Amino acid sequence: MADIQSSCAYCGVGCGLTISHNASQIQVAPNLPFSLKGDSSHPANFGHLCAKGDKLLLSLNQPNTLRYPKLRSGKPLEWDVATQLIADKFQQTIKQYGPDSVALYLSGQLLTEDYYVANKFAKGYLKNANVDTNSRLCMSSAVSAMQRAFGEDVVPGCYQDFEQAEVIVLIGANTAWTHPVLFQRILAAKQTNGCKLVVIDPICTATAKQADLHLAVSPGADLSLFVGLLGYLADNHCLNQEYIQHHTEGFETVVDNAQRVSGCLAALAETVGVSQVDLKAFYHLFSSSKKVLTASCQGVNQSVIGTDTTNAIINCHLALGQIGQAGAGFFSLTGQPNAMGGREVGGLATQLASHMGFSEQEQTLLADFWQCGQVATQPGLAAVEMFDALAKGKIKAIWILGTNPVVSLPESDKVAKALADCPFVVVSEVSPDSDTAKLADVLLPAQGWSEKCGTVTNSERTISRQRGFIAAKGQAKPDWWALSQVAINMGFSGFEYQDNAAIFSEFALLSQTVKQAFPHKRFNLGGLAGLTKAQYDNLPPTQWPVASQQQIGQQHQRVFTDAQFSTASGKAQFITPAKTVEGANRHNVDSLQRKPLTVLLNSGRSRDQWHTMTRTGHIASLRANVPEPTLSLHSSLLKPFELVAAGLVKIQSATDSAFTLARVVVDDDLPLNLANMPMHWSQQFSLANGVNQAIDSRFDPVSKQPGFKCQPVRLLPA
Ligand code: SF4
Repeated sequence: MADIQSSCAYCGVGCGLTISHNASQIQVAPNLPFSLKGDSSHPANFGHLCAKGDKLLLSLNQPNTLRYPKLRSGKPLEWDVATQLIADKFQQTIKQYGPDSVALYLSGQLLTEDYYVANKFAKGYLKNANVDTNSRLCMSSAVSAMQRAFGEDVVPGCYQDFEQAEVIVLIGANTAWTHPVLFQRILAAKQTNGCKLVVIDPICTATAKQADLHLAVSPGADLSLFVGLLGYLADNHCLNQEYIQHHTEGFETVVDNAQRVSGCLAALAETVGVSQVDLKAFYHLFSSSKKVLTASCQGVNQSVIGTDTTNAIINCHLALGQIGQAGAGFFSLTGQPNAMGGREVGGLATQLASHMGFSEQEQTLLADFWQCGQVATQPGLAAVEMFDALAKGKIKAIWILGTNPVVSLPESDKVAKALADCPFVVVSEVSPDSDTAKLADVLLPAQGWSEKCGTVTNSERTISRQRGFIAAKGQAKPDWWALSQVAINMGFSGFEYQDNAAIFSEFALLSQTVKQAFPHKRFNLGGLAGLTKAQYDNLPPTQWPVASQQQIGQQHQRVFTDAQFSTASGKAQFITPAKTVEGANRHNVDSLQRKPLTVLLNSGRSRDQWHTMTRTGHIASLRANVPEPTLSLHSSLLKPFELVAAGLVKIQSATDSAFTLARVVVDDDLPLNLANMPMHWSQQFSLANGVNQAIDSRFDPVSKQPGFKCQPVRLLPA
């Protein structure tokens, strides 16, 4: 067998892999004689892999693998019986309770082709936009901010910018652990180019330890920091007036607010929680460098002010004319391998396919393209709202594909109860062992990484092929196939796909049609619309927008280099935060003053684990570093909370409604008011529930992304 080029299943860096058949180098099991290494030709990683990616083959040794569809009772079903059962249940539910009584919940693990079919099925044929994704938990604040500022969900830059920047600012991003291969590129650039690295994070993370300047801001104070920075740029005559005047709108309003904040740097430094010296050092570095790149991740996104904070960052780059310029601008680090591919096909409940919204013109275009008469006319329920509606009995049938919301959503105990009480739950999974799979009325065996074929889009807009290299286990099928069968069984046409290539071709043609109707939109896969199956099978990594076949294989593309944006006016928008700066930080201050004593709980992650551990929890070498749930906190917090190092701690939600348990780890790199617990654990891999038992489901009002970070909790000895 010739070597196979594929891509990593874990994070949004989207590293390329080369898989070789090597009978003498058996890495996984006697029947899987393969070896794996980084693809030296892939533009994301040039052959490098991190520890998780390097051990990806070991993830295939699942203790249990689903091999056939089955009922909750364990009774096996043939596929045609299972898909007819789902079709009948969905149809009966819609007939009795209306189209909004059903929902789909998807995952950034799905391939673009799966995502596309799920959205066509729900928004086109069920006439219902209740189709959301776990990407809502990951980067939807960045999506909303880019839509507000640029008029479209477009990351303007590319990875090469990290190597061309004079200053890299990482905010709310422990890149050394979450995007390791990209961080290696950053460290290499620091060495070769001498670029400066600024890390903004309340915690002295592995990333912060490599920084030239670490701003350990108070939790939630990043908004104030960047509002103040804009004021500082204006105060010190650093603005790019020509760019602001010709290519943006809204500057006057936003700068007034910002200059009020920057008027007293001493007060601002106190609000932000850093010294005046460090604050000025950061502002000077940002304002005096010609190429500054700011990249944000979950520390910004997973906040009730995540969208406003991201817009405050973008405001500063717009003020310097640094969007779409080499080595400069704003960059959103996405968590999952196909979070962006899902967004492209309308994977979020708040958008339609191909970067469209719900205007009448957009609805009509999509309905005509899909020949479905009419599509969903308004946004559906976002993740937290969806499971809330499930808990209230408004949603009566749900299909969950490739994700584990019982562990990953806030107030996870309520999510579990809502699913247990829901009349009809379908789960498509690789293994029957996840906490969510155990609640399924119908469990469908999905093909996993190594078996399935399709495309993913990484953080820098590069579309890569994921290619299967082993036969599917048992009767496991691609998710697009299962969705299509149910759609056909419900009597819908337009789902008779022969393969993933046909789905991708249809989606690319849709993007071309949308681009023709809305020329100001930048998303375009038109150059991939007419691919033959062989061309699709051999598609090299290709960065969008790709308007012609000549652009296949292109890399290092930037968007908005011409300062023409996707807004109606063609101008970028400065966005003024909805809350006052003081108001934005209020909840943190309140929580520290509340009695009984509380601490802010940060939901984070371990270096070697992934999501809810369903792929990595059984790999001994990845488990060895952190073998059980832990809560890290500063040593000075032990006495007030009557805790002991290495003892057990009960973490009680602020409302006292739920709790979880963890082992106490002392870490004096943490601030005094913040405890940190990885998000991965659940009863599948420990005796305790996960951190999300103790986290409430507040969310950002614009992006609807849950505010996982820095919620007040009580700590009790256990
Ligand atoms: Fe996989 Fe991300 Fe590691 Fe690359 S950096 S090998 S994509 S987990």
